[in-house]
Amino acid sequence: MRTSFTQLENFGHSLRAHAYVIKARTKEDVQSVFQLAKEKNLTVTARGAGRSYNDAALNSGGIVLDTSAWNLIQEWNPYTGQVRCEAGVTLEQLWQKVESDGWWPPVVSGTMKTTLGGCLSTNIHGKNNFQMGPIGEHVLEFTAILPTGAEITCSPKLNADLFYGMISGLGMLGIFTSVTLQMKRIYSGLLTVDAMPVPNLHSHLLTLQENAPKYDYIVGWLDTTANGSSLGRGQIHGARYLHEGEDKNPQETFKLKNQILPSRLFGVMPKSIIHYFMTPFVNNFGWSIVNTLKYMASLRKHSFKQSHGAFHFLLDYVPNWERSAGKGGLIQYQSFVPKETAEFVWTQILKLSLKNKLPSYLGVTKRHRPDQFLLTHAVDGFSLALDFKVTESNRQKLSKMLQDFDKIVVANGGRFYFAKNSETTAETAQKFYGEEIVEKFRKLKKRCDPNGLLESDLYRRIFGISR
Ligand SMILES: Cc1cc2nc3c(=O)[nH]c(=O)nc-3n(C[C@H](O)[C@H](O)[C@H](O)COP(=O)(O)OP(=O)(O)OC[C@H]3O[C@@H](n4cnc5c(N)ncnc54)[C@H](O)[C@@H]3O)c2cc1C
Repeated sequence: MRTSFTQLENFGHSLRAHAYVIKARTKEDVQSVFQLAKEKNLTVTARGAGRSYNDAALNSGGIVLDTSAWNLIQEWNPYTGQVRCEAGVTLEQLWQKVESDGWWPPVVSGTMKTTLGGCLSTNIHGKNNFQMGPIGEHVLEFTAILPTGAEITCSPKLNADLFYGMISGLGMLGIFTSVTLQMKRIYSGLLTVDAMPVPNLHSHLLTLQENAPKYDYIVGWLDTTANGSSLGRGQIHGARYLHEGEDKNPQETFKLKNQILPSRLFGVMPKSIIHYFMTPFVNNFGWSIVNTLKYMASLRKHSFKQSHGAFHFLLDYVPNWERSAGKGGLIQYQSFVPKETAEFVWTQILKLSLKNKLPSYLGVTKRHRPDQFLLTHAVDGFSLALDFKVTESNRQKLSKMLQDFDKIVVANGGRFYFAKNSETTAETAQKFYGEEIVEKFRKLKKRCDPNGLLESDLYRRIFGISR
């Protein structure tokens, strides 16, 4: 196994950590890494595609087990829609394998670059979370290696406590080796999308809630720079699958060339350089103009057809878009708040960010429902994801503001998603998980990992562990 002492970053390039990076290809590799860690008194963190916005896949001074080369689709059954994959298989590989047979992954994140191991550890949600729950609800079975060296198989019936603990367990109980998932039947490569403008936060949340049952997916864009009576304005997209027969030529719309966007903008500019052109606008003034123009352009209610690829993974079509935030990188802050308190919470948060002159540049809302995974982040309510640009001069003030947001969220029954927030403290995390859940998790951890080999920067931060 190749080892290198390397500096790694989070997806937003706002955090850095040096670690011994080891590429795993087999379960024996994982077992030897645990053995090595025990002998050298080091800790281990798995890393899939490193697409987490925070420190989930960083391990300062420890071992990072890179699973990205562990990426075979082992079995695909186009009749049942069941697929078995190695844990380093990406959502991109997965949908490109199953789509032409009339199937689609039931839950996907806003990027297709993520690996299944990463997706299970954080238990990702899609724009259909209110209906389909997180990805864990579509896992039929997984296999994993525990830090004890034991190989286990888990399903909702077999080793159920580990099934519900490891999915959502932030990679702290064991290393996923393979995952069996159930895909969703589709009858077209297209979705029908309805775009609805919303003039303020009240209308934004009401539209999400009232319309969710009518659609398969719902998502909102929120203009984070609007204030006063326009606070929370934006646009909602509700999307639904086409019924059988609605698309007269599904084999055509399923084709890969009709799913992916062209590699050049306007047929001329390579997408790989677009982020350089975005950089001059990524400041308070520039972004408020961009947001205002976007809102003006979205005032007309309209419908259109869009490919699954374009609907879900638009951000992937501007490679390195996150680099446009500049050297300090960006932080994504996502809070999940019950429907009863969401308007109050986000009014406070948006006002506070504008008052502090630290506006977010991008706001995305979704509708959610609770699930039964141990470290769940979901609520019967909504989430709001906010992207903040980090600079040397605003870093401290931003961090303090996000911790103030945390207090408002927790006091109003909200939760956090640890593929995102990088500033939440152990005190806050323990508060929203609650003593019972924390105790249950600690017990599982002791059973699976008696020598405490699995640790990440995130784990140490939110479980208050110092090294
Ligand atoms: C542009 C963008 C859009 C996104 N949109 C969404 C979204 O819509 N919904 C959503 O839920 N999330 C979203 N995310 C977050 C992303 O889906 C998660 O962070 C996901 O975990 C990343 O997968 P990864 O393979 O990159 O994992 P990494 O970031 O590499 O790791 C994430 C966690 O998984 C653990 N892990 C990785 N592989 C294994 C393994 N084999 N066994 C055990 N543990 C493992 C790591 O230790 C770490 O704790 C988005 C991220 C980006 C960058």
